[in-house]
Amino acid sequence: MLKFDVLIIGSGLAGMTLALHLAEQRKVGLITKRDMLEGSSSYAQGGIAAVLDTEDSVEEHIRDTLVAGAGLCDAAATRFIVEHSEEAIHWLISLGVPFTKDKTNRTGYHLTREGGHSRRRIIHAADATGAAVTSTLGRKIKAHPNITLLEDHIAIDLITAGKLGLPGQRCFGAYALDKEKDEVETIAARHTILACGGAGKVYLYSTNPYTATGDGIAMGWRAGCRVRNMEFIQFHPTCLYHSHSESFLISEAVRGEGGILRLPDGTRFMPQHDARAELAPRDIVARAIDFEMKRHGLDCVYLDISYKPSEFVKSHFPNIYSHCLELGIDITQEPIPVVPAAHYTCGGLITDLKGRTDVDALYAVGESACTGLHGANRLASNSLLECLVIGKAAAEHILAQPAIEMPPIPEWDDSRVSDPDEAVVISHNWDELRRAMWDYVGIVRTSKRLERALNRVRMLENEIDEYYSNFHISNDLIELRNLVQTAELIIRSALARTESRGLHFSRDFPDTMTEARDTVLTPPTLNSEGYAQNA
Ligand SMILES: Cc1cc2nc3c(=O)[nH]c(=O)nc-3n(C[C@H](O)[C@H](O)[C@H](O)COP(=O)(O)OP(=O)(O)OC[C@H]3O[C@@H](n4cnc5c(N)ncnc54)[C@H](O)[C@@H]3O)c2cc1C
Repeated sequence: MLKFDVLIIGSGLAGMTLALHLAEQRKVGLITKRDMLEGSSSYAQGGIAAVLDTEDSVEEHIRDTLVAGAGLCDAAATRFIVEHSEEAIHWLISLGVPFTKDKTNRTGYHLTREGGHSRRRIIHAADATGAAVTSTLGRKIKAHPNITLLEDHIAIDLITAGKLGLPGQRCFGAYALDKEKDEVETIAARHTILACGGAGKVYLYSTNPYTATGDGIAMGWRAGCRVRNMEFIQFHPTCLYHSHSESFLISEAVRGEGGILRLPDGTRFMPQHDARAELAPRDIVARAIDFEMKRHGLDCVYLDISYKPSEFVKSHFPNIYSHCLELGIDITQEPIPVVPAAHYTCGGLITDLKGRTDVDALYAVGESACTGLHGANRLASNSLLECLVIGKAAAEHILAQPAIEMPPIPEWDDSRVSDPDEAVVISHNWDELRRAMWDYVGIVRTSKRLERALNRVRMLENEIDEYYSNFHISNDLIELRNLVQTAELIIRSALARTESRGLHFSRDFPDTMTEARDTVLTPPTLNSEGYAQNA
């Protein structure tokens, strides 16, 4: 058994921020299911939104966030996070993050502007901000004597008071599979943090890395935490469609520089959907592409920038040009096949501004959590900011708590399970789930499609539960179990919203209600093993 003061599950920006803020005073265990740098944080390209320029203001950043969130942002959370944005960026600079500099700017740094922002306020490191941030923080983590980093360790479930037969709702650590040894490790901790990222992989097409399987949300739900606004999934309109390239974004800048969206026969379709054509906001473009793909039964549409001079394309989009060329697509000569793809999970485990969930000693930070900042639609580049600000606040709260006596914790018991006989069940169900979510719970929704998806997902859930109870645990089984549970939460939340708002668009309820309300799902009572089952 391993013992830490604090167990952090996930090594994205949320988990790293907590680890570094805690490690001077606490023994920290940081577990991550692949290598430390694999996660959405390292994939982030654009940057981090923050009020750095004296011409900008907290009020303007708040207003932009509230407008994007379509009436559903939590005002206090938004203010708290934006007010701490400058401090968060200075912390990163003090650690050595190489943000792009600009001598002509008052701040000394180059600030870009993204959709929905009324000012230039995105600080960035060229077009690979996430990688610059996580590699800098990652070096500090590896060098810190108080942080034990365990890569290739996937958390299975939290160790809760219910699981130990104790009264109340408290978390005492987690069970995790050491993938190299193929053994389950018991990890005891006074405080536990879910920093597991989002659930983009619940969909067939996603810009997210393989790690984004909703593990944090599902583990928290099973431990007794409520979730909020799970129906709001942000889709990026243009992800490269190619069998050898998953998760490659074709930046919005391509449309900004004149890229035209076409059907396979070359017909331009955006002007029929919005007067701003290709320059319409993200969700409108994604919805139009989805509509055309469903109407014509297409696998993808095409984004065409090839009519521009070849040198212009190569100099503006060097990464996209070379990545596509490697796959045999010369974007100076031919259009790029694209599909919309699941990009960001706006909802998640309900937390306060210290990252506290409904379960004592259990915190959730980053994309697994829902502080209320994103409302019904995330404003670009606010998510990394949320990881930084709430990560620090959670660490400060943990540091202020007195040490508690830990109860005896039993080791993981797998004496009653056997080796799986048919691994195909996992791969088949994984594909079926992601396809059903894409077809029935995608960008444009109807109640009938959602009901159909719920039936399928519940059948899959029964099958997976049975498999889980009878066979040895594996990485794929853990992820599939979490994906199915997260999918059910997304569908139930979507069914509960009888309006269209922000990222949730229902053909049956196209209007927006006057009063904005959160969708909150509460776990049913715990089962005999101490974990919540879906209702
Ligand atoms: C392509 C792309 C571009 C983006 N660009 C931007 C941008 O420019 N600006 C911005 O603000 N946001 C951007 N985002 C969103 C942003 O990157 C994420 O919201 C943010 O990084 C989430 O951080 P996180 O720490 O919560 O999760 P992640 O960075 O995803 O980290 C999650 C971690 O948890 C681990 N994990 C998951 N489950 C388990 C488990 N069961 N056991 C152990 N470990 C586990 C993973 O391995 C990973 O280490 C982008 C996202 C993508 C996909």
